[in-house]
Amino acid sequence: MEIAIMGAGMAGLSCATTLEKHGIKPTIFEKRSRVGDRFVNAEATFSILNRPIKDELQYLKENYDINLRPTDMVNKLVIHSKNEIGCIDGPIGYINIRGRHENAYECQLEKQVKSKINFNSTYEYEQLCKEFEYVILATGDGAYACKLGNYRCDLTCTIKGATVEGEFLTNIAHVWFNYDIIPKGYAWLIPFSEKEANLVIAYPDYPSNIKLDVNTIWEMFYNTACRALDENFKITDRFEITRYMMGICDKAIIDNTYFVGNCFGTISPGLGFGQFTSILTGVYSAYDLCNLEKYEKLTKPLFENYNNSINLRRFLENLSDDNIDLITKNLDNKLLDKLVNKITSNESQLEVLKVLTPTMKLWNHYKKVKS
Ligand SMILES: Cc1cc2nc3c(=O)[nH]c(=O)nc-3n(C[C@H](O)[C@H](O)[C@H](O)COP(=O)(O)OP(=O)(O)OC[C@H]3O[C@@H](n4cnc5c(N)ncnc54)[C@H](O)[C@@H]3O)c2cc1C
Repeated sequence: MEIAIMGAGMAGLSCATTLEKHGIKPTIFEKRSRVGDRFVNAEATFSILNRPIKDELQYLKENYDINLRPTDMVNKLVIHSKNEIGCIDGPIGYINIRGRHENAYECQLEKQVKSKINFNSTYEYEQLCKEFEYVILATGDGAYACKLGNYRCDLTCTIKGATVEGEFLTNIAHVWFNYDIIPKGYAWLIPFSEKEANLVIAYPDYPSNIKLDVNTIWEMFYNTACRALDENFKITDRFEITRYMMGICDKAIIDNTYFVGNCFGTISPGLGFGQFTSILTGVYSAYDLCNLEKYEKLTKPLFENYNNSINLRRFLENLSDDNIDLITKNLDNKLLDKLVNKITSNESQLEVLKVLTPTMKLWNHYKKVKS
């Protein structure tokens, strides 16, 4: 069977290693000169978003023989709102590296793949589609799916970030919801060593945000983060992404083409997590090609997850800074603290996003009617 994988990232490489385990050798095309050839970036996975799976890394290892080493666990998430700070403690998830770093997840996946990767590829999808029996579209965005009329783009985002030097505890991540500075968006700090972290802002490109100057917002946030962590972060690298697409395909497969990773719609619009589901879609597409299980069936829960996450995005956008202050403040209320820590811990199997969706929908409806 002649299979082309377009894109050697999280989804493409997960598909490749799974196919190989079942005796199929794909041909992999990667436009960059090596795997992960982009800015170094610390990312995270939060178990609460992957329920009923308790521990995503253990799950990948035990079920699909995909082995990934994080840099650390996330044992504390510090939430900063405009005027408050709250914490969630416990085994929340994992921190990992992406991009041009030997321990980047994509580089770890590359080591698990035996097939040759054709780097500096200039192949267009249309060519691969004609020359191969099947194409796995794993290019990391919805552009091709859009072109094929198979993608609903719900929003695009402006993202600006930097690698900063300072002193960090590698198991503590920070997130900021401060609409005064970043309207309808958020920011985060994820450390990838005791000396380095990524500081990033992201906000939706809604008409009300288009007139904003990303550099001004970044400067304001950078100063806020320095003050909050009592540091004077030294910036060693910068990156900026414009119009980062968040959306989902109508169909997981069209003809001989499988849409996987962000091409499928694995990035959750609520909080921007997409790594775990990208790996899953890679594995699932391979399972379909090996006649083990149907891709459409396997990806069905991902559609539901995506739609719940859109509700979370709208819910967050409908909150005011005062609302967020109130929630953040109450995270440290003893009773609530215990409950939140229990729910967010990977010991819990509660599908929080699913459970909260009806309430979020109601709130979103109320806000729409009120406006
Ligand atoms: C700044 C930022 C922070 C993020 N933080 C998190 C986080 O904390 N947690 C989380 O879970 N997710 C996070 N995400 C999302 C996550 O990174 C993505 O969902 C995930 O990487 C998508 O995997 P993928 O395989 O679809 O794409 P990728 O892993 O990006 O791989 C796509 C590959 O395709 C290649 N390619 C592109 N075009 C072509 C072409 N024409 N031909 C051949 N190859 C091509 C690319 O070079 C790349 O190697 C973040 C995203 C960004 C941008």
